[in-house]
Amino acid sequence: MRYSKLFGKTLRTAPKEAEAVSHKLLAKAGFIDQLAAGIYTFLPLGWRIHRKIENIIRSEMDALGGQEFSMSVLQPKNLWEETGRWKSIDPPLFVTLDRHEKEYALGPTHEEVITDLARRYIKSYKDLPFSAYQIQDKFRNELRSTGGLLRTREFFMKDLYSFHADEKDFKEFFKKSIEGYTKIFNRVGLKTLVSQASGGSIGGDITYEFQIPAPVGEDIVFFCEACGYAINRQFAEEKKIGDKCPECKGNLDQTNAIEAGQVFSLGTKYSKAMGANFVDRDGKEKPIIMGCYGIGIGRLMAAIVEVFHDAQGIIWPENVAPFAVHLVSIGASKSVTKKSEEIYKRLTKKGGEVLFDDREESPGVKLADADLIGVPERWVVSENTLKKDSVEIKKRDGKAAKLIKISTLL
Ligand SMILES: [Zn+2]
Repeated sequence: MRYSKLFGKTLRTAPKEAEAVSHKLLAKAGFIDQLAAGIYTFLPLGWRIHRKIENIIRSEMDALGGQEFSMSVLQPKNLWEETGRWKSIDPPLFVTLDRHEKEYALGPTHEEVITDLARRYIKSYKDLPFSAYQIQDKFRNELRSTGGLLRTREFFMKDLYSFHADEKDFKEFFKKSIEGYTKIFNRVGLKTLVSQASGGSIGGDITYEFQIPAPVGEDIVFFCEACGYAINRQFAEEKKIGDKCPECKGNLDQTNAIEAGQVFSLGTKYSKAMGANFVDRDGKEKPIIMGCYGIGIGRLMAAIVEVFHDAQGIIWPENVAPFAVHLVSIGASKSVTKKSEEIYKRLTKKGGEVLFDDREESPGVKLADADLIGVPERWVVSENTLKKDSVEIKKRDGKAAKLIKISTLL
């Protein structure tokens, strides 16, 4: 991609409403654009990262046996009345009317829709277990939507739902889902605290949040360095857990954290409310046991920036970086232009993901933009480097730059 042609440019200053580092950097570097409070456009650079995170999540959901599908954003009111959540869900639903004055929710989550599917498609224990997921637009009617992508009113979420004939099968899947989630966060470069939490308005006796320690995080998590136990502060207070780890009696520390994902054991809450039953081996009709598992993609992207940045800009982990190489030509001499064009074309042809800064800007502007955007490797071509038939390569997370012979690179 030629930077001169890229839609969305770096900004000199962050939007004045931006407080979180991730909000400032993602806006300044040209990844996102705010349309209204809590509503964002992903510009091409930002969407590349979104897609990479999606694909990592997709591969781990496929590995769990999840089948990808897509449910509707518009959800009829009657389904939500069956579970009693039309009025009770928090934050409240975004509600819209069609031209016949019929009410619909813009889906914040899909338990009702998928339980309706399950009750019509799952008849027997032979149809179980079953799990399905989607990566789809969700709507949350938040009271406040500050913090950039950390708390938005519209966002893409991966939501997986699982259906089981018995508790044992559910528990095995639940354990695997936690391992799958841990892999996802590791693959995007993050360490998480797997923290016990209350089910809130989604429900469930056992739920775990995947919490990323960061000063900007709105959640407080108590955790044990010794054994890895973690619990959300609110839930710890409910359960009267003090400053000692209930698992190993070590001391509990606390941290602010960003909740980047959550898994819920739903039991039969939705299947009982909506009559989603199956006929078991013994010929008896039983409610299906369910779990649900969510990750907000934009929030995860913001959490990555909260963890990986410095004073100059973002430092993307390789697996989610928008490009692998940021190629910068310095100086307007014919030899530099010719050589950097050649490197760009050959690297791209080999399948390299290259952002080529081919603009007629000063070296200072180009190098500052490269640091702000945060591609893992910067390649500089200048008259000086060409004297040695080389490019100067610098890792975004390293200090020293190295001259490398072009012949060894292409
Ligand atoms: Zn412990």
